[in-house]
Amino acid sequence: MGVRGVIFDWGGTLTPWHDIDLVAQWYAYSEVYDPENAASLARRLKDREDARWREQRDSAGAITAGALDQIFIDEGIDITGARHLRALGNYLDFWAPHTYADPDAKDVLAALKHRGYAVGVLSNTMWTSAHHTEVFQRDDLDDYIDAAVYTSEIPVAKPHADAFLEILAALSLRPEEAVYVGDRLWDDIHGAQQVGMRTIWIPHSDIPAEQVPDDSASPEAIAHRLLDVFDIVESWQ
Ligand SMILES: [Mg+2]
Repeated sequence: MGVRGVIFDWGGTLTPWHDIDLVAQWYAYSEVYDPENAASLARRLKDREDARWREQRDSAGAITAGALDQIFIDEGIDITGARHLRALGNYLDFWAPHTYADPDAKDVLAALKHRGYAVGVLSNTMWTSAHHTEVFQRDDLDDYIDAAVYTSEIPVAKPHADAFLEILAALSLRPEEAVYVGDRLWDDIHGAQQVGMRTIWIPHSDIPAEQVPDDSASPEAIAHRLLDVFDIVESWQ
């Protein structure tokens, strides 16, 4: 059975890993939403986010971190208000420099599409699909992506099998016809292997130890740069 499709993780895979100061991202929100109490609000939002990612990890993706809006709702913030929307804009501006695609991303996606592979994205994220689509449009990648699944909008997250089955269904692929490319050994490599996909690991992310419950998965291949994914996939034909 040949390979018919390639599915990519987003952060640390299509976009290079960046070390983000997670309090600073929330300070960017808080300094607009409530300047006088920005530091304490930022700390509370960070704690809420941490708790949500922890719950997702501890449940192996059976419970997702959810959508970003839920953090604000839990904090009692009116997510339809103008003050919130201005603050959210500042949060997204903080993130923008960290979301640019890997310099190889367009070339590898275009090469795969040109050869007739289906191309998908499966990302563990709290952001909306609309925001991720804007990021891909900015970087001129959206034309090369046939389907994307964001765990902010489904009931499960990687490494849960159903997250992988969701993107496979969206691309009309069987697991053995698909390759998963990711930077996390547990969420990505173990997760995709358990449903029967072949895997390629991008080994450059500096993932905090507490986010790695198990690093024993062994990928079928390692791509030291994103463009190598094309040759690896072709070698499996
Ligand atoms: Mg990643």
